[in-house]
Amino acid sequence: MTALTRRGALGMLAGGLVSLTGAAQAEQFAGTYHLVPVALAEGIWLVRGADAPIAFANGGAIANCVIMASNAGPILFDCGPSRNYATALSALARKLTGKPPALVLISHLHPDHSLGASAFDPAIVAALPGTIADIERDGPGMSDAMFRMLADWMRGTEVVVPGRRLAAGPFEFGGRHLQLFSLAGHSASDLVALDEASGTLLAGDLVFKDRAPATPHATLSTWLASLDRLAAIPHRRLVPGHGPWDQDGSGIAQTRDWLTWLDKALHDASAQGLDMTEAGEIAIPARFAGMQAARYELQRSVSHFYPAIEIDSLPRIDGGTGG
Ligand SMILES: [Zn+2]
Repeated sequence: MTALTRRGALGMLAGGLVSLTGAAQAEQFAGTYHLVPVALAEGIWLVRGADAPIAFANGGAIANCVIMASNAGPILFDCGPSRNYATALSALARKLTGKPPALVLISHLHPDHSLGASAFDPAIVAALPGTIADIERDGPGMSDAMFRMLADWMRGTEVVVPGRRLAAGPFEFGGRHLQLFSLAGHSASDLVALDEASGTLLAGDLVFKDRAPATPHATLSTWLASLDRLAAIPHRRLVPGHGPWDQDGSGIAQTRDWLTWLDKALHDASAQGLDMTEAGEIAIPARFAGMQAARYELQRSVSHFYPAIEIDSLPRIDGGTGG
């Protein structure tokens, strides 16, 4: 609790500094998220995120969120980066369904998906146990980073630890039947939900489409195994965590292609003796030309993975085999 209280104090401080010193920026600050629902199926809407890095210009609203109607009130799958965003998402869900959100599913720890939980009673915010542990550990630090980047967009946002624990398997809420899957690889704990009535597979950040995958908490081998699991789940459409939805498996295939290329490219770069800056400048294959934020995520991935790859691949100075 101490950490969360301290987080609140830091948040107010960050907001205050912007108000005092960033007068020009404050005058331009719109502070309003314009959310556009796209109907995917009966009672299911997608609210698309910007296919870009988190930036002041987009208020951190880069993750896709989904609204699913139920007899008990709408279910949200992810809720955006801030209290303000989630308040707008909640108002949109009420406009579409006539009721306020009754359940908020958090796919994984990352702040662009989870910090909007600040707008809701923790009792209706649900996640896998691994995600709850991730948010308890990393939530305050991720929130601090978001306040530094997004300033006034984050006003009033507090880290909320989900109060309801989810488990893999059939899940019914307000007459809507979901299958929940407990996977991993993009993070230590990645929730996937299949809406049975519509065949809509909500893949969270295990799938990125036309926007380069982010890897700050990734384990690539585990992620690739999870993509195999996803491909084996019969579904009619897939909603990725970032980018447009698809009906043809192209999001899964493209994510697999990028991660496989990335892993080999970083090992090759290390074998060639490139340093981290040089590794971040390697050529990106032409087939990824349409992928947003590709160079940005490649360079972030170098910073996440390269030190361990270099330690693995460099010969030991004492002539040992490193076993
Ligand atoms: Zn993520």
